[in-house]
Amino acid sequence: MNVLILGAGGREHAFSWKISQSPILGNLYIAPGNPGTAQCGTNLAIGVTDFEGIAAAIRRHDIGLVVVGPEEPLVKGVRDFIESQADLKHVGIVGPGAEGAQIEGSKDFSKNFMHKYGIPTAASKTFTKDTIADGLAYLQTQSLPIVLKADGLAAGKGVIIALTLEEAETALNEMLLDAKFGDASSKVVIEQFLRGIELSVFVLTDGENYVVLPEAKDYKRIAENDEGLNTGGMGAVSPVPFANAKFMEAVTQKVIEPTVKGLKAENIDYKGFIFIGLMNHEGEPYVIEYNARMGDPETEVVLPRIESDFLSLLIAASNGTLSEQKISILDQYAVTTMLVAGGYPEEYRKGDVLTGIDKVEDAIVFHAGTTSRDGDIITSGGRVMALTGTSNTLERAIQKSQKAAQTIQFEGKNFRRDIGLDVLRYGM
Ligand code: AMP
Repeated sequence: MNVLILGAGGREHAFSWKISQSPILGNLYIAPGNPGTAQCGTNLAIGVTDFEGIAAAIRRHDIGLVVVGPEEPLVKGVRDFIESQADLKHVGIVGPGAEGAQIEGSKDFSKNFMHKYGIPTAASKTFTKDTIADGLAYLQTQSLPIVLKADGLAAGKGVIIALTLEEAETALNEMLLDAKFGDASSKVVIEQFLRGIELSVFVLTDGENYVVLPEAKDYKRIAENDEGLNTGGMGAVSPVPFANAKFMEAVTQKVIEPTVKGLKAENIDYKGFIFIGLMNHEGEPYVIEYNARMGDPETEVVLPRIESDFLSLLIAASNGTLSEQKISILDQYAVTTMLVAGGYPEEYRKGDVLTGIDKVEDAIVFHAGTTSRDGDIITSGGRVMALTGTSNTLERAIQKSQKAAQTIQFEGKNFRRDIGLDVLRYGM
């Protein structure tokens, strides 16, 4: 089976790394990929939303399975486009169509879906420009802090947690009247603030059956102790201590089962990943958000813990035979530390040469924002590289990841030195 992965980040390098270990893989292609994915397969210079280019590559390279990494092509309908091609009906696709991708692409859609199927989530109401007066009145009746979410995709920036009423009113006005997040904020969900500990649960489904992948915790803020600006993710750890059998059973019964059944009841043929952002609020799971794809950097700790042949699972998800598959998970810890460019998540440096990659001994190097220039690897994105350590002990996994983070050098390098330490303190 020849496989095409869409995307260019650390998540897609992790997919490539894992899939390239499969005994049933033919050729592996990545569009557009990065210097890391090029070590596992062949990069193709095609953008993730160039649907014609993707269809042409599927034909040219006799692709049997397409694995979609990021959300943008899903929300824009890459699955629907490939399925509309008469000669590509045989191609399996991991990732939902545009309708299913709304669980991520529209907060309003996902909140309505959760309310309809009784999936625990924060109470919420949606407002538009026309109903802004009602929105402002609604804010008066709510307790603080209060959460405002742009309905559409806003590159992870569309959530505002307002600590005062004034902040909330300003945010609502800016989002609805000044189009703070463009079209994405033409609708705004106002949501109750939930206190608790967050974790991410990943499900792979064929629309009917599902397997639960290892759970993970990510570190969103730029600075240690979760201070500073939000980022795409500065690191991740798996497993997560409070995700014990009892909690995960509650997640399965109250969240995963009704989600998969609800999608089917809505006549959405959902084949792909469901990434469920959860809050453990007083021991009970509440859904903070759904994503229609895997997380980055969570994938960089989730995949190293999967013992089963990942490609077989993906094929089964794409062709509706997941009930015949079991997932086997390694009883070990995985920790990833993200190296980021100087300045990130604001204006950041680019084009700095990386050194020391070949000196990393005991960690997996996943390229993210890197590119090649004159035989060098240089930085090309805010999040540059994810370094994953695995071990039987969490302490050792942290050490391996941190050591690798120190070994690789580039001008302006920044990374968090506390990834996993809170989990360690929790006493695993
Ligand atoms: P989202 O883009 O929906 O993942 O939101 C970004 C982050 O905002 C989440 O990871 C949470 O840390 C926080 N957040 C979102 N919704 C809530 C909520 N209802 N209560 C508390 N924190 C929230």
